[in-house]
Amino acid sequence: MLTRSALIYLSRQEGLKEFAAKFAPFRKLTTRFIAGENVEQAVKAIREINGRGCTATFDHLNESVNSAAETETEVREYLDVLARIDEMGIDSNVSIKLTQFGLEIEPELAYRNARRIVEEATRRGNFVRIDMEGSKVTQVTIDIFRRLRDEFGLNDVGIVLQSYLYRTLDDARELLNLPARIRLCKGAYDEPAEVAYPEKRDVDENYVRVMQLLLSSGVYHGIATHDPKMIDATIDFAQREGLSKEAFEFQMLYGIRRDLQEQLARDGYGMRIYVPYGKHWYPYFMRRLAERPANIWFVLKNFLKG
Ligand SMILES: Cc1cc2nc3c(=O)[nH]c(=O)nc-3n(C[C@H](O)[C@H](O)[C@H](O)COP(=O)(O)OP(=O)(O)OC[C@H]3O[C@@H](n4cnc5c(N)ncnc54)[C@H](O)[C@@H]3O)c2cc1C
Repeated sequence: MLTRSALIYLSRQEGLKEFAAKFAPFRKLTTRFIAGENVEQAVKAIREINGRGCTATFDHLNESVNSAAETETEVREYLDVLARIDEMGIDSNVSIKLTQFGLEIEPELAYRNARRIVEEATRRGNFVRIDMEGSKVTQVTIDIFRRLRDEFGLNDVGIVLQSYLYRTLDDARELLNLPARIRLCKGAYDEPAEVAYPEKRDVDENYVRVMQLLLSSGVYHGIATHDPKMIDATIDFAQREGLSKEAFEFQMLYGIRRDLQEQLARDGYGMRIYVPYGKHWYPYFMRRLAERPANIWFVLKNFLKG
């Protein structure tokens, strides 16, 4: 747990990125979790994912952007991605982070930027998922999502909820009243016990509780996890409730449990792969290291080998 917190702390230290980028074992490991530094590499990865019977979602890596000009670059990147999805005929939607669009500069800026992406996705018949970040921005992220959802349709824009937060069951109930399409994940940030379950067992129990609520709602949701226990609980519940395999989709991260991704796709479940790409890979990459101690040992082993 301490290691996890330390790595998540380090994930926020951009200064370390330069060092990490030059350190070969780091770079080698990043290629496992990150599709590349440019959009062409992400498109190539998604073609291959589509070829394996899975759909995808693009994530242009960047977060906590603190200049308005840079948020404009992010918007253009996503408008370009939406155009490429159509031109290339690939099966993918897009995932965005509001801090990438200026949430920490001015929430109204993030709203306006996100709105431009959702408007374009709607025009193209595509879909935008708003990722969920740290608990300091949970409420404002939900507020901006609600504004967008008021204006756009159920199949134009969706949001993410994290089962480690105490508030999530209530948030899910409220959002389902809109209704809203929700991606359920466990949560990747380092949160204090005042807002989040410290024990994995409680996070998992809450995951199952919220998953059941989502699946009972009749809306198409994303069940995002690599945890076989969560996956089995989802399949069991869906079967007990007589839900079809098309009623929801599973989602996993690029480079994690590819065997399970392919197995579920072969079994006829929708499987969407989250494909991160871009130059600002450092915080995302560190969160992936934090999730699995074996990943850190891999880096250390390579370091000791020289
Ligand atoms: C599609 C998708 C979108 C996501 N979006 C968000 C978001 O918007 N906000 C947010 O806070 N979090 C997001 N997450 C991350 C999520 O919150 C978890 O941190 C992450 O998925 C690990 O949790 P888990 O459900 O896989 O279960 P865990 O209990 O953490 O892991 C279960 C098993 O999965 C495998 N595994 C998990 N992580 C790794 C890893 N890094 N490397 C290797 N193996 C691993 C291991 O075999 C592990 O035993 C997303 C996850 C997915 C799959």
